[in-house]
Amino acid sequence: MAAEAHSTATLRLSVGDLRIVHPITVPTGPVPAADVVPALQELVNAVVAAAEAGKAISCRKGCGACCRQLVPISRTEGEALVALVEAMPKEQRKALRARFAAAEARIAGAGLADRAGRSDRELSIAYFALGVACPFLEDESCSIHRDRPLVCREYLVTSPAELCAAGPAQEGVTPVPVPKLSLAARRLQDETDDWFPLAMLMAGSRTRPTGGKRRPGTEWVQRFLKGLKN
Ligand code: SF4
Repeated sequence: MAAEAHSTATLRLSVGDLRIVHPITVPTGPVPAADVVPALQELVNAVVAAAEAGKAISCRKGCGACCRQLVPISRTEGEALVALVEAMPKEQRKALRARFAAAEARIAGAGLADRAGRSDRELSIAYFALGVACPFLEDESCSIHRDRPLVCREYLVTSPAELCAAGPAQEGVTPVPVPKLSLAARRLQDETDDWFPLAMLMAGSRTRPTGGKRRPGTEWVQRFLKGLKN
């Protein structure tokens, strides 16, 4: 089978105070939106590297305090993550599915499965208070570090690590001001600014719409860039 053709372009972006020059490579032909997620991850990596330059970052491997927060995920990233889980070896997939089922049960049991009637802040505080670890967290480290969501890449702190675990109000925690490109991913397929909690990935995969549009990779990138301006 012939290798899939790819197109490369140099993006010149102004995001916040940052000026980013970044080569981006995407499939040339029509693909699902999830197929451009790796390219968006590289772009976010470049933005994060520029934002954290010269700062003393406290985040370390083995500190998973922030992985008990509500992690908002776009439909497109959700599709890429479900595909990632489906491609894992059987035993790993089974263990992961069990952790997702346990997390979903605790979230539903606390009445947090339905976002209706709550502000995002109220929901975030309630989630953190519940202390449900992200199912991808293993030994306090991210087991999908290379494929972790955009919003996880964008969260770094310069304050002492112990403050991150101190309480839902996150008093004294100083995040690095990283422009949130992850927000644009939410509008990639749909015009609405929709998201779901990462811990509900598997539960949602049974009910979320499937069979999204296929577009050339460059068109997905253009839609993403347009989403940055909204
Ligand atoms: S995906 Fe990884 S980095 Fe993100 S919350 Fe889960 S364990 Fe933490």
